[in-house]
Amino acid sequence: RIVLLRLGHRPERDKRITTHVGLTARMLGAEGMLLASDDSGIVQSLEDVVRRWGGNFYIKNNVSFKQEIRNWKEGGGKVCHLSMYGVNLPDLADELKKCDKLMIVVGAEKVPPEIYQLADWNVAVGSQPHSEVAAVAITMDRIAEGEPLEKEFPGAELTIVPAERGKHVIENAGE
Ligand code: SAM
Repeated sequence: RIVLLRLGHRPERDKRITTHVGLTARMLGAEGMLLASDDSGIVQSLEDVVRRWGGNFYIKNNVSFKQEIRNWKEGGGKVCHLSMYGVNLPDLADELKKCDKLMIVVGAEKVPPEIYQLADWNVAVGSQPHSEVAAVAITMDRIAEGEPLEKEFPGAELTIVPAERGKHVIENAGE
């Protein structure tokens, strides 16, 4: 079980990247995304993707990150904050893999400093600055059980059939 917590989203400039963080986490098997800002537009666009492309990914708007972290830990979950200042992922991947309830936290511009204390692990995806989308993708891929790119999304209106050329999409009849 993996849930993603997105900190610091600024509605006026982060819409696209936060949407991409959510889409990437969903594609790689997260159960949902918690948004520690108020932006119902993000919720709508991700829910629209879920409706068309299947699965049960959820989005929770405007959460208190401290409350969510506390609840998660009380339920036995662990928290992994992605930061270029942390311990490099190759040194922690085996430990993270063993964890069956993991919250992955990513920031936008600057994260609240207490997140470094609240997290069980501060994990660097290489010690160079890059993107929260890349950090989520590489982490989830490195700690996945099995092949995350072959995950299926039940209940989809649209399903792609991989093709060597062109686009092959099946439109599934609604219930
Ligand atoms: N300047 C910001 C800071 O000092 O925290 C970094 C902003 S970065 C564009 C946004 C988010 O991407 C970070 O909060 C972190 O979650 C993620 N990120 C960027 N580079 C990373 C790296 N090398 N390892 C892990 N996470 C990274």
